[in-house]
Amino acid sequence: MDLVTRVTTAAEAALADHQYASFIDVLTGMNLLQNVQAWHNGRVQYLDEMVQGSPEKLLKVIELFQQWAAQRGLRREDLPPHASFIPRPPKYHTASQYPVLEQAFRLHFVSPQLPEKKLEKLREKVSAAAPPTVFSIVKASKCSQCNRELGKGELLTMQGNQPLCMECADLDHLVYLGSGDAALTRRATKHSGLWAVVVRFSRSRGRYERQGVLVQPEALEKAEEECLADADLRAARQARDAERRQFEDVELAERMAERIRELYPGCPPEEARGIAAHTAVRGSGRVGRSAAGRALDDHALALAVAAWVRHRHTRYDELLMSGQERAAARSAIREEMDSVLDRWGKL
Ligand SMILES: [Zn+2]
Repeated sequence: MDLVTRVTTAAEAALADHQYASFIDVLTGMNLLQNVQAWHNGRVQYLDEMVQGSPEKLLKVIELFQQWAAQRGLRREDLPPHASFIPRPPKYHTASQYPVLEQAFRLHFVSPQLPEKKLEKLREKVSAAAPPTVFSIVKASKCSQCNRELGKGELLTMQGNQPLCMECADLDHLVYLGSGDAALTRRATKHSGLWAVVVRFSRSRGRYERQGVLVQPEALEKAEEECLADADLRAARQARDAERRQFEDVELAERMAERIRELYPGCPPEEARGIAAHTAVRGSGRVGRSAAGRALDDHALALAVAAWVRHRHTRYDELLMSGQERAAARSAIREEMDSVLDRWGKL
């Protein structure tokens, strides 16, 4: 495959996948940049340290990438490449600091189909000053400033290539909040003037995983209060809803009873109320609770009345109790049913 095809193929694949293509996408797609994860994880600081290929070849790739984008009519966005675990976008992304290469790593060509919202997100992701990353270490280390020994599980952060303990990094006033309560974390970090992400390297998965955050103690307190207040609000709202539902049920039952008396003028009022109350009970799954029952559909009410009569005015329950099949029991009580309904003056 010639270089043009390789560049184009890699760029098209990225565009198809996420509606933009970056220089990193192209290099990765061409297998010129391997183990980009190491850079994401902060283990490798500079992108060009992992790139294979002569400078001449890279220059050619950059040129072809831009030509491809021009032909495709894509919009250019200059955004610094953003590694997941590098505290802040550094000034340089390459060890060589060669301007053409530095510039190339900022290249993103965006499809006109990429929604503006997603583009905004992309811009935010790379421009937001990321919080410092703190490592919960998996093997012993030593603070480069105070020389304190740091054991497994202790926290350190990196300044350049130098490990720093929390005290020397001025982060020791922060308190740890483990991941798990997303709402609490969101609020605590929002209120915290300074906060840090705590990660730990997972050997089995070969990557850093977020454990929690370090936040200012007062920010955590405030966040906790807000979450508690929220829980109280929720409980109050639930109580209000229950009250309203009860009221609705009463109202619905009254309207149902009225309609039953219209349909069955001979039905004693207390029985009409009984049928209505029985069928209107919320959550009972009885016919009165169905959409038709709520709308006082006459057919639904007729079913409710029939069920009431069957159970209260015939031997139906007795027959079922004695082991009769439902169908047989129903035909056995048909006459009894009809005579009650006739008496009630079913229209
Ligand atoms: Zn120290």
